[in-house]
Amino acid sequence: MKRSTTLALRRAYRLMRRRHGHQNWWPGDTPFEVCVGAILTQNTSWRNVERAIARLKAAGVLDPVRMHALAEDQLAEHVRPAGYYRVKARRLRAFLGGLVESHGGRVDRWLEGPTIEVRRRLLDVPGIGPETADSILLYAGEHLSFVVDAYTRRIFARHGWAPPEAAYDDLQALCATALRDRPGAILLDYWRDYHAQLVRVGKDYCRPRAPRCAGCPLEPLL
Ligand code: SF4
Repeated sequence: MKRSTTLALRRAYRLMRRRHGHQNWWPGDTPFEVCVGAILTQNTSWRNVERAIARLKAAGVLDPVRMHALAEDQLAEHVRPAGYYRVKARRLRAFLGGLVESHGGRVDRWLEGPTIEVRRRLLDVPGIGPETADSILLYAGEHLSFVVDAYTRRIFARHGWAPPEAAYDDLQALCATALRDRPGAILLDYWRDYHAQLVRVGKDYCRPRAPRCAGCPLEPLL
């Protein structure tokens, strides 16, 4: 990796953080809610996820054991606002199978262990890909596993930090190697907030068709 890319990635955080402040972004009230949200957010907006989560809460089933006890079509009905609701209900049930049957519904136990092993366990669940697994690891499991999403990919490609067709694992390795410029104790918070800052820039400025570079916090890095 070029030294200039490392320095640019570190400066990018300083610029985003100075503009937006710490995002205090925690996608869910509990680790279990983070897991459910990470699965529901596939191919939909976070707003739709929030509506589905609200329905699960209102029905009193935002709990591993109670959710696991639901039939698939009942669960699908609860998560309907998140779109692709039958597929997502199936994915949630696959996730709940391992969580409830092997770990008594304890998310902390399910996510316990060396990051590489827990990540493999998550990736073995049908419907859980790298982005979903890393979101769960980083935000629900306190594992250092950088999340790469479409915003990351677009911003990195436009700045020449990585080619547009870069593989997920390569982008993740790039970030994990470059973003070690914080002491261990705050690295987790740094990586969480870094991802949150990229999401904010991606939504507010780095639009797919017409990026709004004028006024974007990352404009000095173009
Ligand atoms: S909007 Fe422009 S300056 Fe901002 S991240 Fe995208 S390409 Fe960079």
